Amino acid sequence: MKKLCILSLLFAILLGCSEEDPLVENESLSQNDAVLKTLKSWGISDDLIEDKGTYYLVDGDMVFYKNKKYHAPKKSSAKQREHPNAVTINSINVFINPGMNADWRNASINAIGRWNAASSGLLLNITTTVANAHIQIMYDSQDPSVNLASNVFGRGTFPTANGLPGVRIWVNPDFNACSGAITQNMRISNVQHEIGHNLGMMHTNQTSASLIPGTPNTDAQSVMNGGQACSIDNFSAGDFLAIRHLFPPLTIAGSSLICNTSTVTYTASISTIPINWTTSSNLQIISSTNTSITVRPANSAYNGSEFIEATLPSHTVRRNIWIGEAVVDLSMIEFENGIGESGYFCSSHTGNTYSIAPRLSGTTHQIRLRRYPNLSIVYSPSTNYSGDSGTLQYTPTPGWYLFEVRRTNSCGTTAWSGTEVEFVDCSNGGGGGEEF
Ligand SMILES: [Zn+2]
Repeated sequence: MKKLCILSLLFAILLGCSEEDPLVENESLSQNDAVLKTLKSWGISDDLIEDKGTYYLVDGDMVFYKNKKYHAPKKSSAKQREHPNAVTINSINVFINPGMNADWRNASINAIGRWNAASSGLLLNITTTVANAHIQIMYDSQDPSVNLASNVFGRGTFPTANGLPGVRIWVNPDFNACSGAITQNMRISNVQHEIGHNLGMMHTNQTSASLIPGTPNTDAQSVMNGGQACSIDNFSAGDFLAIRHLFPPLTIAGSSLICNTSTVTYTASISTIPINWTTSSNLQIISSTNTSITVRPANSAYNGSEFIEATLPSHTVRRNIWIGEAVVDLSMIEFENGIGESGYFCSSHTGNTYSIAPRLSGTTHQIRLRRYPNLSIVYSPSTNYSGDSGTLQYTPTPGWYLFEVRRTNSCGTTAWSGTEVEFVDCSNGGGGGEEF
């Protein structure tokens, strides 16, 4: 049995409290339709698909227009679900119909605020101009083509293949299907849910569409659960993962290293949301735009870690940048030996290892050993080892040595600097330690 509604235009989403679909059944699916074939290829069973004339309504709450193209879904392995059509813009204007009462207008504002607080690369802007709106939120009664049943709280619109969000959200001020009174949080949560549909999220607790990687295998707290209009509350941890999958947070591309007072430009992955750029104290901002920042070190003699921060309305992203030559923090050099103890080496065992701090990418290093008391160099391999750790290929006689290191990055090579280390005969149960 297929269900059919009388509407002709929109599609929809119902968020009924009951599991029952409120729509009347009276039409068979036309099995040759390309969109229907696509839906079935996604594994959606016939009984979840309702033919609405110009569109198919899936699972009571998702709309697929017959005259649009829908992409094949991606495969993955978790529970939040994404619509095959991604929204490809980051800055989305939402028009809140001023004819709704203050409860619904405020619910819409609060739902938008929850989306904007998700630390994703998405920004929902409230616009007062319909012409600028990507999404309009309105009562069903404000759209002649829609009339939501009293057990349907709201309905959203899925994105099509044009990369834009679904265009309308209808809410039902006459919804009365919960056991108690309709609370303001219910209104907020349900607008939040419908916005999710318009941005490409499907129902977490249903079986169609692509699973979003990294989300939990079950998520009773998801605000995108379907058929739970009376109990959904706010984004779950899995919802946040899903949102950040669909709208990745900003990243900053550019060199991890600046030498001397070179001028370097960094570029933001998001260009349509205003960015407030700031830097740590030894980086000067030469210029900046909405998509990039050009900086240089203020002090050419400084070697150390600095950062650039990009602040969006929803989140701040920090990019750490190393300035100048590497440094060696002698107090943080660590030694381990072949018997699994730390702080000293074994003269009787191979497997003496060291690690140099701070850990820095893009560096090589050399090591050498001097022997006390005269500090003569007893070991000095010419090899430039990559990274910041290694295994000593040398086992001297027991005693105290100076372990020296110098590091190289593309800005240059540091001077040698060293710290004492004891080689101990570990064959009789170890010994030694950090008694310097
Ligand atoms: Zn829904």
